[in-house]
Amino acid sequence: MASLREQLIGRIARFGPITVADYMADALTAPRGGYYMAGDPFGARGDFVTAPEISQMFGELLGLFCADTWERMGAPNRVLLVELGPGRGTLMADALRAARVVPQFLEAVDLHLVEVSPALAARQREALAGIGATWHHDFGSVPDGPMLLLANEFFDALPIRQFERSQEGWRERMVGLDADGRHLRFGLSPASTGFAAFVPPELRDAPDGKIVEVCPAGLSLAAEIARQLVAHGGAALIVDYGRSAAAGATLQAVRGHAPHGVLDDPGSADLTAHVDLPALARAGREAGAAAHGPVPQGAFLKRLGIDARAETLLKKASPEQARQVEAARRRLTDPQEMGELFQALALTHPALAPPAGFA
Ligand code: SAH
Repeated sequence: MASLREQLIGRIARFGPITVADYMADALTAPRGGYYMAGDPFGARGDFVTAPEISQMFGELLGLFCADTWERMGAPNRVLLVELGPGRGTLMADALRAARVVPQFLEAVDLHLVEVSPALAARQREALAGIGATWHHDFGSVPDGPMLLLANEFFDALPIRQFERSQEGWRERMVGLDADGRHLRFGLSPASTGFAAFVPPELRDAPDGKIVEVCPAGLSLAAEIARQLVAHGGAALIVDYGRSAAAGATLQAVRGHAPHGVLDDPGSADLTAHVDLPALARAGREAGAAAHGPVPQGAFLKRLGIDARAETLLKKASPEQARQVEAARRRLTDPQEMGELFQALALTHPALAPPAGFA
């Protein structure tokens, strides 16, 4: 069977260069050979570590955030609890365990998990054994209703397009082939003024060489989520590696906790791009929702009570466990670590008061 790299080279040789978004989508989620489709990339021995895998405190605090927001919604007797890209299922398992302090909330929950990878969906079934849930390939098939939605490090996996300013105006960065036709390489589309429409107005006059990233899939998903919230009530919490619109190229590949060439052996490394959270907020507002934040993850977790939660865990901890709790609290909240790079954004029904952590 041809590797994903060979499949892509064959496709480009026949039909021409592809957008960075098409490349990213295939590298991550092609049914045969996509990075997420076969394996479990998380943890110290995997390729990267995410907040819920660093400490149970992260999922627990998000679970309490959901129970609290449900009360602010007027405690509806049925609420969809949706997670986008649940990874190993750790966040949701921790969240539901912590939310046991509000039993009526758990009784109201109708759990829906949006996951494209069969391998990770299987991991999630194990982590959530005994808890009823429905899995979906994309958000479009989640039913209508009052909703609480969580997405941690999900939007950074959605395909981005890149535009580069050249002397002839904005052009799209494409993935094509080198002269011998055997290697993938970046190039630019022929000049076309149409591409300028994707570039935020304040950046249109940027100097030559400036790269701008746009995530159409993320923007349309934020709008779709917002429309559901406006129609049926509720809130969505998006946590991700934030960036400004002007940040330039942030597309990166990571394998075994180390940087990897973006075009080297697609499917073998994680590909992410930092998330323009203010643009997601704008997309949500345009669809009628209220947007709160983004706020830095460190401040957000402190407002949700990470310090008190850590103190409770420390009381029962062995010296080794105590070191781990302290290290995790620092890693999640310290401005030098994940505390400021990661940011939280909430989209809500416009009549809902700002959720916990955003006031
Ligand atoms: N939220 C988890 C995992 C983050 S990794 C955590 O914090 O640990 C990204 C997750 O999103 C994985 O579960 C991956 O399989 C899933 N995913 C990536 N692209 C997706 C897509 N287009 N549709 C649905 N799920 C996707």
